[in-house]
Amino acid sequence: MRTLRDISLAIMFAAIAATATATVDTEALAKQNGAEFHWFPIQKTFILVDKTDTLKFAVGLPYATSHGQTVELSRAPAIEGGHIVIDSADAAKFFKATPATEKPASSIAAKSSDAKVATSSSASKTSAATKPATPKNETAGTREVRTIVIDPGHGGKDTGAQGKKSNEKDIVLSIGKLLKKELEKEGFNVKMTRDKDVFIELGQRANLANQWDGDLFISLHCNAIDATPERKKQIKGYHVYVLRAPESEEDKAIARRENKVATLYGEKNAKEELSPIEWFKLEARLEKYKQNSYMFTEEMLKAMDGGKIKRQSGGVGGAGFMVLVGALMPAVLFEIGFISNEEDEAYMMTDKGQKDIAERISKAVSTYKAAVHSYRETLGR
Ligand SMILES: [Zn+2]
Repeated sequence: MRTLRDISLAIMFAAIAATATATVDTEALAKQNGAEFHWFPIQKTFILVDKTDTLKFAVGLPYATSHGQTVELSRAPAIEGGHIVIDSADAAKFFKATPATEKPASSIAAKSSDAKVATSSSASKTSAATKPATPKNETAGTREVRTIVIDPGHGGKDTGAQGKKSNEKDIVLSIGKLLKKELEKEGFNVKMTRDKDVFIELGQRANLANQWDGDLFISLHCNAIDATPERKKQIKGYHVYVLRAPESEEDKAIARRENKVATLYGEKNAKEELSPIEWFKLEARLEKYKQNSYMFTEEMLKAMDGGKIKRQSGGVGGAGFMVLVGALMPAVLFEIGFISNEEDEAYMMTDKGQKDIAERISKAVSTYKAAVHSYRETLGR
């Protein structure tokens, strides 16, 4: 067994030997220091835990959390050859030797005070999006599913995307109202961020959902593309989005389009994209609800498949939708279909189509509720 002194020496040597490009395998680093290592593949985050601290990292973001504070890294963690690596200079920040005689149990502890704490303008500039969570709705995602918040997108002066014959704001309101009826039949407590043609700021929608102590937030939208008539004919289908750092340019573009509302109408803290540090700060909070958001997404896919509107390229995506950022509960943004596609638009405009869509979403909520319930039972809650 290696002694702490050995480990300290090894790390000191590693740090001394480090060149600007040297990296350290985090899993090996954790093992060497008696810390636990956990990797969360969906969110691409990882933590190193010992008795004194929980270090949180996210692949691609040059920040870590140590003792609850955001620390700037020399370089973003990366995946190289199947290993999750961090810069050796960063490894030395957190794992620098502590004399064995003073703090025998502490390995991660170390000199977080020396690490550059990001308290500067970048932190204060962050919007409501990254304010600490209020404890009110802490248990969402781990308790029984009762209150569903339906958020029909846009409204009032904001028409949303425009089809040939319809506006996004009207379609999503109609479907939202039908969905409310369906869910109430199933015994859910249902709230709507709007039930008429009014404008509501993006940030306010999540605030309302939090006040209502929601268990699930469903934002309803219609997708659209700006393209040639031929392409508009081709591109159709539904898509379920969760809040996650976007992995494709297309997903990024869709989030930008939905987020534009806020900048267009002068909303406070409006922005079309989240910065890396905002994503990083959000990660910790999202972790809590992400699993449930994905569970619900799966139920949505099951319920929507077989319907008239098919999946659009896989049907699932992640991006920085501002309307989801503030929601302290599992949340999805559902792009019901493409209003820029005549076929999708026609279906979304009919009573029959709207009812079918509402029934399918309602079914997904019910099966999600059952899934959460049985998951709770296996945990003995
Ligand atoms: Zn929209």
